[in-house]
Amino acid sequence: MFAPHLAAFRIPTDRKQAALRIANLSGRLVLLSGDRALDVERASDGRFESDPQSVYARWDELTRWAADQDASLGSAFEARDLGPAVPRPPQVFAIGLNYASHAGESGLSVPENPMVFTKFVSSFAGAETEVELTGSTVDWEVELVAVIAAGGRDIAEDDAWSHVAGLTVGQDISDRTVQFWGDPAQFSLGKSLRGFAPIGPAVVTLDEIDAVADRDDLAIGCTLTRADGTTELLQSGRTRDMIFSVPSLIARLSALVELLPGDVIFTGTPDGVGLGRNPRVYLEAGQTVTSEIEALGSIRQHFVAKA
Ligand code: ZN
Repeated sequence: MFAPHLAAFRIPTDRKQAALRIANLSGRLVLLSGDRALDVERASDGRFESDPQSVYARWDELTRWAADQDASLGSAFEARDLGPAVPRPPQVFAIGLNYASHAGESGLSVPENPMVFTKFVSSFAGAETEVELTGSTVDWEVELVAVIAAGGRDIAEDDAWSHVAGLTVGQDISDRTVQFWGDPAQFSLGKSLRGFAPIGPAVVTLDEIDAVADRDDLAIGCTLTRADGTTELLQSGRTRDMIFSVPSLIARLSALVELLPGDVIFTGTPDGVGLGRNPRVYLEAGQTVTSEIEALGSIRQHFVAKA
């Protein structure tokens, strides 16, 4: 069984093709290699700007340039200085009930079409953060997040991976009380409270993933660390169990709306969330959730009481 590591980020250091880890270090676009970060604006003499969001509009140009860079020559960095890998996506799609196991534990039926809500961009946060609990029903959902490079409409499923810049780790943190306000409930607000959309540590390109894993079948999970240091594996799944795969989601979304460079898709969570337990379990102050996906790394959120 896959057990997420509680240790720090594990970032492979040994490859230097167009296989990239792209991140946001204190608001600046960087390439990561191991514990080093190369500042893209400085290394490119200003050819690329420092804004980590603008890179997706020039994705092919950036990846061609970056293939000749050696990010291990960059500077040491602290994980807590990593901002959201994609800081201001023009559109954020989040998919509900995309694993049959999670639909089952939620007492809801498997959807015929993707169930889509958004996480408003003001909730985006970095890889290692402190999150204020907004109430007594705050829950975890580890998710694979796909980042769009070239956008478009009516993207064929067969061609969909070519529109993906890379993948990253996300937590779809949810205030279940706010999420289920109203009938029918509108999920987006309850999933967009401050710091409720941490993503990172980096956007990992498909070449980099393919070198070590299967992009369609990544181990995904998260672990709780309590204030007393005890730990519990909360979620453990495989992305192959998604009802709508990344290419299927891109095809279905782009059949209805235009995808834009730098958009992100939170692709849903496997089973093991607090809402699905009997009795239900939610996050408490002093607890930390570490979320990890194979080949992508991990993010860590520490939960504190409301000020
Ligand atoms: Zn979710």
